[in-house]
Amino acid sequence: MHDVKHMAMDTKCIHAGIQENEFGAVIPPIYQTSTFKFKDVDHGARLFKGEEDGYIYTRMRNPTIEAMEDSVAALEGGVKGLGCGSGMAAVSTLFMAVLKSGDHVVCSESVYGPTLTLLTTILCNFGIEVTSVDSSNIAAVQAAMKPNTKLVHIETPGNPTLIMSDIQEIADIAHKAGAKVSVDNTFMSPVYQRPFELGADYIIHSMTKFLNGHADVVAGIIVLKNIEEYPHFRRILNHFGGTIDPFNSFLVHRGIKTLKLRIDKATENSMKIAQFLENHPKIEWVMYPGLPSHPQYELSAKQMHGYGAMIACELKGGLEAGKNLLNNIKLWQLAVSLGGVESLIQHPASMTHAGMGKELREQAKITDGLLRISVGIEDVDDLIKTFEDALSYC
Ligand SMILES: *Cc1c(COP(=O)(O)O)cnc(C)c1O
Repeated sequence: MHDVKHMAMDTKCIHAGIQENEFGAVIPPIYQTSTFKFKDVDHGARLFKGEEDGYIYTRMRNPTIEAMEDSVAALEGGVKGLGCGSGMAAVSTLFMAVLKSGDHVVCSESVYGPTLTLLTTILCNFGIEVTSVDSSNIAAVQAAMKPNTKLVHIETPGNPTLIMSDIQEIADIAHKAGAKVSVDNTFMSPVYQRPFELGADYIIHSMTKFLNGHADVVAGIIVLKNIEEYPHFRRILNHFGGTIDPFNSFLVHRGIKTLKLRIDKATENSMKIAQFLENHPKIEWVMYPGLPSHPQYELSAKQMHGYGAMIACELKGGLEAGKNLLNNIKLWQLAVSLGGVESLIQHPASMTHAGMGKELREQAKITDGLLRISVGIEDVDDLIKTFEDALSYC
């Protein structure tokens, strides 16, 4: 097995998690099995006691899943990954592993809608307290900390506003208060942002997005940087049961091989599209980390290695004009999700962030007319031309 830990991202995408196997298969085999046969009763007993290394049952461990977990852990510079059945399974398992009744969590207000909904409408019933803050404002994060704060959960750039948060400064505040920091790194992928290098303790991804990249899998992962925490997290995942299955793991691992190529091309496209939008008379504003007009443009240079493929914008005609755009646009598909090879566009206030309610949306600066764009890897002139055509309906 080659150790790719210290090699470049391009190399890691191809080789991380790939191990020697019985027949010399270049690609890790798909062990599509729920269970593994013991040699005899004593062998089974030794495995259950942890006295011997081996596989028992796929919810607990599976070699195809492990290969993918090792790959993502290597990309993030972590030590272990825990593959989950969805990004939300990763979020909920993380919260269950870190928090208990009586604890308090500080969460960015500009996060994936269901993450905040999970905290404010479900985990509150288990005695977990939450404060949502504008995490781009360091003073607000500091002010939200309480003696029982155990976790600060942030997403940067935030969903769907593209507002950024300073991971390093937030990690300093949290650590001084004895709390941990988790970063949802879905929007950037490890190619463009590596939160462990900036002090984060946990990383989660919806692998449904850039890591898999082909809009054909729902999956998630938690990445750890501290090996001592691994048995606890694995136990929580095993008991909540939000495990990924081997075939989806295989697909994600396959998608990761082209992650760098895909996100580089999508980012190149995004820059041109963001510039096009910024100069279009019907566009009120554009938020893209790569535009100097982004209020935190400098922060993107400090903590990111690329600007990514997500853009937020609003038309001058607000929601009505936005509807006309979405109902008339060709090539771009009106769909939620992001990070795939195809370009998608959606309306967060009526779709992904509807469940948050208007008050929390307003607090998080998710205006009713905001459109969220996930740029794919199609020809950029085709993408701009079709956008321009649709704008003529607005
Ligand atoms: C999609 C998404 C999630 C949830 O992931 P699922 O795979 O849909 O469960 C979490 N965080 C972010 C930033 C996302 O975009």
